[in-house]
Amino acid sequence: MSLKENLENVEKEIEESIERGNRAKGDVKLIAVSKTKPISDIEEVYALGMRDFGENKVQELCEKEASLPADIRWHLIGHLQTNKVKYIVDKVYMIHSVDSLKLANEINKEAEKKNVDKVKILIELNLGMEETKFGLESEDEILNLVSEISKLPRVEINGLMTVAPYVENIEDNREIFKQMKKISSIIESKHIPNVKMDYLSMGMSNDFTVAIEEGANYVRVGTKIFGERDYSKK
Ligand SMILES: *Cc1c(COP(=O)(O)O)cnc(C)c1O
Repeated sequence: MSLKENLENVEKEIEESIERGNRAKGDVKLIAVSKTKPISDIEEVYALGMRDFGENKVQELCEKEASLPADIRWHLIGHLQTNKVKYIVDKVYMIHSVDSLKLANEINKEAEKKNVDKVKILIELNLGMEETKFGLESEDEILNLVSEISKLPRVEINGLMTVAPYVENIEDNREIFKQMKKISSIIESKHIPNVKMDYLSMGMSNDFTVAIEEGANYVRVGTKIFGERDYSKK
């Protein structure tokens, strides 16, 4: 299958999920996750109209950003180490993976140095509670973190993100997505200054349909667009 057919299939599945979930048309944005994939693949998908691309490694994002059109919105979706913030703070459109005040502080500091007015971020939650993943757990912890980060002038919380576990039966992740939507509504109801809950970034190739039914408006899809990743070459 060509990248064009893959993309069309994903877009069709998104439309169908929007209908099943009684979501508003055009409410869901697709991020093409291009990690490990060559520039030529990104160019091909770009030529089809895609402008949002997701990467999980700082160095790879920087390399690709330097050689691709400037109107691409780069989303950093992978775990971010504080010592790497300086490389990307002026290159990313949004950082999906902020899970600590320490990291947010560093983003604020580097944004100031590089004269970036506001860095859009999402708070990464780990409701699946998998030990190997990064993220936060309890509601109090989450609210506390959000209110602390909201005080940073150069950081703007735009919503929440999660990476649900890989499951054979995607229904097993529905509860996680529901919880994410609920927490997002709770945070929104607090009307914290400098905090928007515009985005729920959840759902990957395996489970984006269920995520959309439950309220996702950013879905991060890699494999279903670009095909399987080959890590042995890296
Ligand atoms: C790799 C990755 C994706 C895309 O995964 P696929 O299963 O290939 O769609 C989405 N989100 C994050 C955080 C990722 O690291």
